[in-house]
Amino acid sequence: MSDNSSIEWTDATWNPIRGCTKISPGCKNCYAERFAERFRGVAGHPFEQGFDLRLIPEKLHDPIGWKRSRRIFVNSMSDLFHEDVPDAYIEQVVQVMLAADHHVYQVLTKRSERLRDMLDGKLRNAAAKPHIWWGVSVEDRRYGVPRIDHLRDAPAQVRFLSVEPLLEALGEVDLSGISWVIVGGESGPRARPMRREWVTSLLAQCEAAKVPFFFKQWGGVQKKKHGRELDGRTYDGMPVAMFLSGGNEHVESKQPRRG
Ligand code: SF4
Repeated sequence: MSDNSSIEWTDATWNPIRGCTKISPGCKNCYAERFAERFRGVAGHPFEQGFDLRLIPEKLHDPIGWKRSRRIFVNSMSDLFHEDVPDAYIEQVVQVMLAADHHVYQVLTKRSERLRDMLDGKLRNAAAKPHIWWGVSVEDRRYGVPRIDHLRDAPAQVRFLSVEPLLEALGEVDLSGISWVIVGGESGPRARPMRREWVTSLLAQCEAAKVPFFFKQWGGVQKKKHGRELDGRTYDGMPVAMFLSGGNEHVESKQPRRG
């Protein structure tokens, strides 16, 4: 597990799986692949096998030993619902999330149909937990937007969208049942551009639907240079999990005021 993640919307990352394969245009310049492949062949390095998918059972129980509560991005270097990850292993990962419920888990996937099917089946118990947030990546209309419907069809308590890298205008998006939207542009040496109006359209839709909006970054080749302000301010909206005594739990939204 890695604490103090540099990813703006989380505190730590946990990777009980490493490696992945590309599935849609959002994967083209995958940061995880670029990072992992730098270490292919380096004996003893966690990414000695580059970006080849493999299970890391020795990392499975890390969150249980992490005493201070934090938001944990699950599998920042992989995809939990990848077709080569057995159901039984996904269930083991989720069992840890259920046991170490003093954290918030952020599970993000591009394999949205498998997420839907498992939350409606073997993971139904976890779907209803407010400390486990289930999200899909949405980069364009053709591949990304249909994932939103798959997510909505899943019986999840907290659903979120990571609209990054935003590659085109998404048009009108159905935000019903969605608890959080993150938007960001691509970063890195081959970053594809993101236009302001694509972002402001999503912001306006989130405001109208009262969905917390988090603007992660403009991105670009020099990410730091462009920052994460949109029209002179940052947007750090986020769902807030509330754990009440007596077993009653609910989720409420937090959206900083504009201006
Ligand atoms: S699904 Fe995510 S981790 Fe896997 S290749 Fe695509 S961008 Fe990379």
